[in-house]
Amino acid sequence: MDKNSRRKTRQVQVGNVLIGGGAPVTVQSMCTADTRDVKAALQQIRQLEEAGCEIVRLAVPDAQAAQALKEICLGSPLPVVADIHFDYRLAISSIRSGVHKIRINPNNMTDKEGLRETLLAARQRCIPIRVGVNAGSLSRELLQKYGGVTAEALTESALMAASELESMGFSDIVLSAKASSPRLMIDTYRLLALSCDYPLHLGVTEAGTREEGVIRSAVGLGALLADGIGDTIRVSLTADPVEEVRAGFSILNALSLRQRGITLISCPTCGRTQVRLMEIAEAVEKELADIRTPLHVAVMGCAVNGPGEAREADIGIAGGLGSFVLFRKGEVVRKIDEDRAVEELVAEVRALAEELGEGQDAR
Ligand code: SF4
Repeated sequence: MDKNSRRKTRQVQVGNVLIGGGAPVTVQSMCTADTRDVKAALQQIRQLEEAGCEIVRLAVPDAQAAQALKEICLGSPLPVVADIHFDYRLAISSIRSGVHKIRINPNNMTDKEGLRETLLAARQRCIPIRVGVNAGSLSRELLQKYGGVTAEALTESALMAASELESMGFSDIVLSAKASSPRLMIDTYRLLALSCDYPLHLGVTEAGTREEGVIRSAVGLGALLADGIGDTIRVSLTADPVEEVRAGFSILNALSLRQRGITLISCPTCGRTQVRLMEIAEAVEKELADIRTPLHVAVMGCAVNGPGEAREADIGIAGGLGSFVLFRKGEVVRKIDEDRAVEELVAEVRALAEELGEGQDAR
């Protein structure tokens, strides 16, 4: 997709990260560590940063967690978002602790005076608010009006909440309207995209365990991002959040919206393959997981599509009988034995990454 055809939105700033208004689509995740355990939370935030995460969200279940955010914000290399449900006092306390954004669910924060105070506190600190509605927590009125959880109901819920904030003089808003069904969330975000110019935070909520969750998120987020919709994303997985970040970047890489780390091109193998390609491709992917420089690496089975893909990639190998031909930037470098393929390919990629420098994100 042409990156210039992205939906035009307002822009908000979360710490040093911009969302919307033409900024790169950012990748977020959420800590699974207990926010009250500052050491554990900071350790996880550092792991997420290492994986490329750009914004991190933490749950604020009680006053102690809101208080702990003070130390977490001081030590965090990433902008911190406080996830607030039910109690506006936790929002205000988190804002005072120095968070860079808060997320509220308008359907469970019904104290209007409390909301007004929260907005005042956010405005004083110049921090944005994500209004995040979920299919699982729609109001009874909307469920009745639309006869259940529909894209229209979710859209109306998000827009109503945003206009309530606007009516109280607050417009630094990001919207999300997540559902566990990719189809429903796609329809909802398409409606939202047509109805407002708020930056949109995309997510398939409760997407499932790693394998299923990545597929559902790739379908939901991918369909929208390919249409230019979406300004920041979170892949929700019942797994280590580092996996969420990796999956998020893979989705953006696949659409050429961001480039970070290795994009591996490997063939599925077939009756022509005469090398242990699956094993080699898997080992190469694992060995290169820490590289941040955006590079395309091809691991191909035979002469049918191998040389073409290997030539197109930054570095690639094309298999023959128990050996590969190694290509670098379109040129043949040498022949390598399949037993040394992983080692030599990884060394070549590391050398090229070093030459090019880290330069993450070639958007
Ligand atoms: S590149 Fe060769 S080995 Fe790989 S799937 Fe195609 S024909 Fe089969």
